[in-house]
Amino acid sequence: MLGSVEFVMSEQRRSPWVVDTRELGRRPGLSRDVHRVVHTREALGVEGVIAVPKGAEVELDVLLESVVEGVLVSGTALVPVEGECSRCLDLISGEEIEVPFTELFAYPDSATEQTTDEDEVARLVDDLVDLGPVVRDAAVLALPSVPLCTPDCAGLCPECGAKWADLGPDHRHETIDPRWAALTERFSTDRDE
Ligand SMILES: [Zn+2]
Ligand SMILES: [Zn+2]
Repeated sequence: MLGSVEFVMSEQRRSPWVVDTRELGRRPGLSRDVHRVVHTREALGVEGVIAVPKGAEVELDVLLESVVEGVLVSGTALVPVEGECSRCLDLISGEEIEVPFTELFAYPDSATEQTTDEDEVARLVDDLVDLGPVVRDAAVLALPSVPLCTPDCAGLCPECGAKWADLGPDHRHETIDPRWAALTERFSTDRDE
C-alpha cells in the first residue's frame, strides 16, 4: 500500500514532459514509440505576435532510439498557435502547426563526456528525457516570422486602413489629380483677391 502511494507521488512530481527511457533498454537499435498529450507550462514564442499559448494542448509523437552514445529522441509536436496577422492585424487562432524535433540525449558516462562540452549535448539524468526544452526550442524556430491569417492576405487599404478583403476590388478613394489640385488652388486664390 505504501509502495503504491510513493509511486503515485513520484509520478505526480514528474512533469508530463519527462519520458523515462529505462523501458527502452540500452542495446543500440532498440526503439520505442511514445504518444502523449501534454500542456505548455509557458507561452512559446512572442505573445501577441505569434505564439503557442500557455496551457495549450500539445500532441507529442516521439520515437526513442537507443544508440551507442545515448538515446536519440525524434518526433513531432502538434501545437496550436495564436497571434496577429502582420498584414491585416486580424487575430490568428485555431490554427495548428506540426513542429519536428531531433535531439540526442547522451549517457552521462558515454564518450561524449570527453569529446564535447557540458552544454553542447543534452544528457540523460536518471535515465529521464525532458522534452519540454526540446519542443520549446523547436517550436520557436518553427513559428512563422511573418504571421498571416491566410497565405494570400491582401492586408489593409493604405488610404483608409480598412481590410481589402471587406472592401472588394472596386474600392478606391477619390483623389484629386495633382495638376487639377494646382488649378483649383489658383482659382480660389484669384477669387480671394
Ligand atoms: Zn490578414
Ligand atoms: Zn480605402
